[in-house]
Amino acid sequence: MEQVSVDSFIKNAIDIPQLCKIINGIMERYKIYLGVNVVVVVINCLDEQCTTVIDNIKYGMRMYYPEISNNDTLIKIEMFYNMRLFGGLFLPHIKTYESLMPAAHHVPVKEDDKLMILNLSHIGYDANTKEFGAFIRYGHNSSTAACGAITSCYDQILKGMKMPSDSDLRALSRYIKKTISTHNIEPKPLGYDLLDVTVNAYKDQIPWMKKQLRKLAQKDEIDIIYIGGIEIDTNKESDSDTNDKIVLMDTFIVNQNGNIIAAILNE
Ligand SMILES: [Zn+2]
Repeated sequence: MEQVSVDSFIKNAIDIPQLCKIINGIMERYKIYLGVNVVVVVINCLDEQCTTVIDNIKYGMRMYYPEISNNDTLIKIEMFYNMRLFGGLFLPHIKTYESLMPAAHHVPVKEDDKLMILNLSHIGYDANTKEFGAFIRYGHNSSTAACGAITSCYDQILKGMKMPSDSDLRALSRYIKKTISTHNIEPKPLGYDLLDVTVNAYKDQIPWMKKQLRKLAQKDEIDIIYIGGIEIDTNKESDSDTNDKIVLMDTFIVNQNGNIIAAILNE
């Protein structure tokens, strides 16, 4: 059983500029050049508020490219592949390396080419109520469920309701059910159970993700840099102190031989 410590979870959260600094540090260390020898794949939820964070990451990365002089350059460096999956989860036995092949094949410069994967699941945090699993979206007056997909699957499982009819959502629901039983997750106040579900659902996909990335790296002879974690969506009406945060959980490299090594982060 893995219970998430809420305090340390929040303490470990970084903001978007800090995340961009880490991404840029990895790029410098491993000679990765946006728009040249890399394709960045962003795996995140279908939730439009989660996608907003990706736009913020693109925006945050611009400061490392002072040579941007026109829109063409901007378009090149911001050419990210976006893979939207319910919950931002790369579900074991559902998603495979094959879904990443198009990105791996489209790196502009083939010499020393890389794939960088940014994999974010997400959870809302309403700073007013200190509750996880919900937040106030842009243009709304009150909070709504986040991740909506994970939350609805979780609620339906708790209530013993039928599986969703959508096949992707059904796959997520089965996976969440397994996460709940593997980690003995029980209802808790303030959405702490949803935090347990989200963090463990993210973690449980990692062994499968690694296996698939090893296959892809060897097949396509490409180095893959993986950066994964949980995005905390906070109220959009709040000030900058409570802007969206990222809890990084995994940073590793899968080289062309299929070996997995820890990525070194610049301090
Ligand atoms: Zn979501």
